[in-house]
Amino acid sequence: MAEFNVIEKFVSIDGEGPTAGSLSVFIRFANCNLRCVWCDTSYAWECDPKTEKLTAIEIVKYIKQTGVKHITLTGGEPLIQKNLISLLAMLSDYEIHIETNGSLDIHKFRLGDNVHFVVDYKLPDSGMEDKMYLSNLTAVKSKDAYKFVIASKKDLDKAIEIVRAYRLDEITQVYFSAVFDKMDPADIIEVMKEEHLNRIKLQLQLHKFIWNKNKRGV
Ligand code: SF4
Repeated sequence: MAEFNVIEKFVSIDGEGPTAGSLSVFIRFANCNLRCVWCDTSYAWECDPKTEKLTAIEIVKYIKQTGVKHITLTGGEPLIQKNLISLLAMLSDYEIHIETNGSLDIHKFRLGDNVHFVVDYKLPDSGMEDKMYLSNLTAVKSKDAYKFVIASKKDLDKAIEIVRAYRLDEITQVYFSAVFDKMDPADIIEVMKEEHLNRIKLQLQLHKFIWNKNKRGV
């Protein structure tokens, strides 16, 4: 049976997205097809000596024994994992959020109403904006979310432009998040007030405030 490269698996609170603050089982897959300038999970870019090779059955067994009903599939990039669809099919009793970097088509992974996406739009300062799969901007639904990670005023202006061009806040949940140590969240709030961004939520990466910002497995 095919194996997944799992960098880490753990139970914690979801730090971002619509289920922020709720318990979730995290499965962090190795490998990413992007290289964002400000990436805070670069340890997941490649397999490392601690990477576990787990079959779908072993991942499901781990999830079951945690007793937690919400799953966050993250990375790295979950959608480049071979056989992800077969794993999703085995998890139909769980609410699943897939955190994806926005460069890949989410469509074929929407197996059921229990699968939701937190899709990034990589802004100019990430260096990856040209890799965005723009059709995702019209494929998201109300229980999905789009997340804009903002590192500068230029990024913030572009995020607002995209939200307005695609009327994104009318079809899905939209989150603005600040790159830790680069963008002051208070500056985002000021612009939200000035621009009357009533449907957009500022989001702080909770785990970076609760634990050391570089702590893994939380
Ligand atoms: S997509 Fe995510 S994991 Fe990949 S480089 Fe960007 S921030 Fe890092």
